[in-house]
Amino acid sequence: MATTRPYNFSAGPAAMPEAVLQRAAEEMLDWHGSGMGVMEMSHRGKEFGVIAAQAEADFRTLLAVPANFHILFIQGGGLGENAIVPLNLSRGTTADFVVTGSWSVKSHKEAQRYCTANIVASNTANGHTRLPEPSTWRMSSDTSYVHLCTNETINGVEFQELPDLAALGCEAPLVIDFSSHVASRSVDWSRVGLAFGGAQKNLGPAGLTIVVVRDDLLDRALKICPSAFNYKTVADNQSMYNTPPTWGIYVAGLTFQWLMHQTEGDLSGVAAMEQRNAAKARLLYDFIDNSAFYDNKVDGSCRSRMNIPFFLRDESRNEVFLTGAREAGLLQLKGHKSVGGMRASIYNAMPLAGVQALVGYMREFERKHA
Ligand SMILES: *Cc1c(COP(=O)(O)O)cnc(C)c1O
Repeated sequence: MATTRPYNFSAGPAAMPEAVLQRAAEEMLDWHGSGMGVMEMSHRGKEFGVIAAQAEADFRTLLAVPANFHILFIQGGGLGENAIVPLNLSRGTTADFVVTGSWSVKSHKEAQRYCTANIVASNTANGHTRLPEPSTWRMSSDTSYVHLCTNETINGVEFQELPDLAALGCEAPLVIDFSSHVASRSVDWSRVGLAFGGAQKNLGPAGLTIVVVRDDLLDRALKICPSAFNYKTVADNQSMYNTPPTWGIYVAGLTFQWLMHQTEGDLSGVAAMEQRNAAKARLLYDFIDNSAFYDNKVDGSCRSRMNIPFFLRDESRNEVFLTGAREAGLLQLKGHKSVGGMRASIYNAMPLAGVQALVGYMREFERKHA
């Protein structure tokens, strides 16, 4: 259906597919004739059991998660995982961090409370605009895992391919924070030990965190690890050790169904999204690169398809740009305070038409103000 809602470029919590919001609205008071809304159901009842099992199965299908990985639905968010991962995996020894932007800086800092946290590569010197080449990473010989943020939401830097740690001579598991590009592209699970992400960028409402963890990593938690965040405890209880974020699981489940029905040519699901997202990002980057009025500082090899920071070369026009954008139905384009300028987050729920509308506005703004 044609939308009359504005296009929302928020970095997160972020725009949802309209069809998902409508479905959630229709089912708000009575889920499938149960007489209850999903928020009102016991997490241990048969209705919610069906919802959670379907969501998990659909996520597994969408991202082709192998059978030797558990999918956990928990609370705590991405920042919670910055503590929960070292509590579960570090054994209190050493963990290695690849610092590529604001989020991996935070992950490294938090882990220092629980283990020796090393930085094995960093792009701080170039302002987080290029990625350190994996062959230059110097992993610790005794590291318990290697952490990286595969899409740096604030800096707009994305790994286009996951590093093969084994080929680099490192046997430790790779941990990825894929909060801001989960389900926007496929994941090579043969290179991953654990992946975590908050749902509020690409999957659903804030409050749900998804952890995908290889079975051999489940049972190494420190004694001080809170039981509700012990991966083995959570896995043994099918994510129902304590009350999981039921509303978040339900809405994410609706998003998974929506994703499975997306197509581009012969492609469907995440493969279709990947192609669509590449086309959306190309449209915006090409426009910026061909303009003397706008600028993006990230190297072409690692530009994020999801989060595109850009600058007006004349920054005194920023407020006028943002006000005009809002009036044109283009919301939440202000850049993160640590980077400045503008940022367009174009997650799965942003249609190509939304990016076309943004580019149209930017072209017109340039014509008026250049
Ligand atoms: C948004 C985001 C987080 C979020 O953490 P919260 O605790 O859920 O606020 C973590 N990592 C990345 C890469 C993010 O984009």
